[in-house]
Amino acid sequence: MRGQAQVLVNTPEIELWPGGLLRARSNRDARALSRARRVLRRKRDGRYLAADLPEGLQALVPHLQREAGIGDALGALERSHARARPGLDVVPVLPLHRLQARLDALGLDADAYAERTGLPLVAEPAWLAFAGFDRFRRPLWLHVDAARAWRNLRDAALRDGVVLDAISGYRSHDYQLGIFERKLARGQDMAQILAVNAAPGYSEHHSGRALDIGTPGEPPAEESFEATPAFEWLAHHAAGHGFVMSYPRDNAHGIVYEPWHWCHSR
Ligand SMILES: [Zn+2]
Repeated sequence: MRGQAQVLVNTPEIELWPGGLLRARSNRDARALSRARRVLRRKRDGRYLAADLPEGLQALVPHLQREAGIGDALGALERSHARARPGLDVVPVLPLHRLQARLDALGLDADAYAERTGLPLVAEPAWLAFAGFDRFRRPLWLHVDAARAWRNLRDAALRDGVVLDAISGYRSHDYQLGIFERKLARGQDMAQILAVNAAPGYSEHHSGRALDIGTPGEPPAEESFEATPAFEWLAHHAAGHGFVMSYPRDNAHGIVYEPWHWCHSR
């Protein structure tokens, strides 16, 4: 089913991927992935948990039933069987209570952070649209509105002889939490990490509406992007497609200048 293949179904701890878009990490995975309608993937570390095969669910880990969030994921899987798309472009968001508990566990004072930066908590969408592949040939997931706008933006640029590529789109809370856990484990302190990473829950990338944009030959996410014809083109045309540069120089959030980071806001 083509419509189903183009949607990432999101639940608090587990993502439901179309099988065809994931790389196998073992022969057993390869056999299951090639036939799976959906693959359940743990958000925190990317581990494949189960394959939804025509004959039923095949566990890819021991004790699947004890996996955190498995109830929500199986419920979402059931609903995804019933519909090719989870609703007519209606995109509900996931609850935030679990994130707040995990920020506490990390020792991050979320209230103080929100106060200092003026950034709001950003909920994850309950599903994301496939928006092609990024520069690194990874599937790019975006909010369905942003996915459509990105395709139009890229095509319009191309007509003017400018090549835009995507560096990064949707990222989950768990992905961002994982970055913090790894850096803390390596001995960095919270202030050091927060100087370069948005706190988990506060990145526009969680919404699926933010996109880091690059152009071939240019390193990803570097300030030098502002000197490229691609940036010049974006500065004139992105707003017409609903994209706004979130972090200009000297922005009120105290975030470094990010000429590559654009957010779809319409
Ligand atoms: Zn970004």
